[in-house]
This record gives sequence, structure tokens and C-alpha cells, in this order.
Amino acid sequence: MKDSCTPTFTLSIDWEDFGQILCRDYCSLITQPLKTIDRQTNIILDTLSETNQKATFFILGMLAQYRPDLVMKIASQGHEIAMHGQHHVNMRRLSRKEAHKDLSDSYNLITDIIGAPIHGYRAPYFSIDESNLYVLEILSEMGLIYDSSIFPMKLRRYGIANFNTSDMLYELPNGRSLVELPLTVIDWKQKKIPVAGGGYMRLLPKFYLDRVFRDLSKRQQNVMLYMHPYEFDTEYINCSENYPPGTSYSKTRTFIANMRWNLFRNSIRPKINALLQSYNFITCLKKAENVKKHTHSPTVLGCPQ
Ligand SMILES: [Zn+2]
Repeated sequence: MKDSCTPTFTLSIDWEDFGQILCRDYCSLITQPLKTIDRQTNIILDTLSETNQKATFFILGMLAQYRPDLVMKIASQGHEIAMHGQHHVNMRRLSRKEAHKDLSDSYNLITDIIGAPIHGYRAPYFSIDESNLYVLEILSEMGLIYDSSIFPMKLRRYGIANFNTSDMLYELPNGRSLVELPLTVIDWKQKKIPVAGGGYMRLLPKFYLDRVFRDLSKRQQNVMLYMHPYEFDTEYINCSENYPPGTSYSKTRTFIANMRWNLFRNSIRPKINALLQSYNFITCLKKAENVKKHTHSPTVLGCPQ
């Protein structure tokens, strides 16, 4: 059972380059990241520095291998470095052995860059559900303390229906334990809705979000925000910029992608800024350590019916 923990906000950044991911998805090639990652990362770091807050960066291996300098810059400012896997693949499409390779490749790469261990993981596309909970066992065997990949509601592409919405320490089938820091969802008219990141935060109006987060804070609920570097960018994003010369790609697909990646994006910075100025933020690692400290016996991991 869990004692009370201090409620706090966490800002997590899935640190990846949208151009690199789209090129991998559309052209099956791993390319150099776009230069825009510098501007986007600097905007995030400046925002955190101006508000005197710390965040957790889930670093994608295939970006880190091209930009170890930026990983070091993030670490040097006191933010937590965690991992987001090596190649940004949906973990449900990998075998247990392939999942282990993707995780250990990114662990080795990132720990080599920063010269220190890392303690947490977020799966690309939140791709841990009932079908591959063994990924949590792999993480525990690698010595990680926490995972933050589970969406505690069923959405079209990810999530586990009725999964516990609180941060919890779980006992795993391999006899080890791991803290799960789920993404924040709220109850609304007897339904759960996601509010704390990506497209949801872009589409929901600021006055509504302010009210939601004020309410979560009053009720002493933990909040896990998740964002991506491109969402902080001040310039228009063109998704075709990273396609290698001679690559054929669908113009319609690119048009739709550009619309998706730019729509309401400029509303994100003021929304995040307001939260950073209003609440106390801690890193995922600190949050996971608090959960461990206040848990007398871990909950046995099982999927809700
Ligand atoms: Zn990602």
C-alpha cells in the first residue's frame, strides 16, 4: 500500500527530431536530424531556466548519436536524462529479444555520452500495454527505477483501460520492482480524457487547462506533462525538409502532416510557461524515488479487467 506522497508536477520532454522520425517512417532511412532541433532545444532550456524549474528529457538514441553535444548541454543544466529507446519503434511490434536490443542500445549510447547511469524510460507512442508488459521486466533487469509509458485509459492506438492513474511501485513477474509514472488523465462526465501533452494540450483552450490543472493541484494529484521539442518551435515546420534528394513521397501525406504538426502549436509556449510559473515541478526520477520511499509493499502488476 502507498502512503501519501507530495503532489507535484513533472514536465517530461520526449526529445526527438520530427524530421528524422518522419524520414524513417516514410522513406525507411535514418537521416541526420534537422538543424531546427538546436532552436527547439534552446527554447525549452531557456524557458526552464527563466522559471527556475527542472525537467526530464527522454532522449531518443538515433538523435543522440548525431547530437551528443545537445544531450550534454541538457545534462549540464541539471535536467534529468532518461531514455526514449534507440529507433523510435512501436514496442508492440518487437519481440522480447528485439525490445531488449533497442533498450540496451539506447542505454549504452546515452550513458556513454553523459558518463552516468540513467534511471527511466518512456516508450515511443506509449507502446506498452497488456500485450508487452514484459518490457517493464527488461527495464528492471537493466537496473532502471521507473517507466513512464502507460496511458491509463484505452485510446485508439495505445493505453490500458482502467490502469491505475496514480504513481505506483509494482512487483513484476520476474520478482523485481519498478515504479510506473502514468500519463495524466482526468475524469470528465464519467469518462476519462487525456489533457497533459501533445495534441491534447494544443487543442484545449488555455482557460480550460488552467482550471483543470488548478483542480488537479487542489486535489493533490500528481501531474505528468509530456511534450516534444517541435511543439516549442517559434517557426513554421515543414515536414518534407528532411527527405533526402530524389526521394519520392506523397505530397498529400506531407500536407496533412504539416497541418497536424503546426495546428495551434503556437499556443503551447504560453500554456507551459503559465504552469511552470504557477506550480512546483520535479523530475521523474525524484517523483519515482518519492514513490519508493513511501511504499511499504509493492502492488502486484496485473491488468485491470
Ligand atoms: Zn517519441
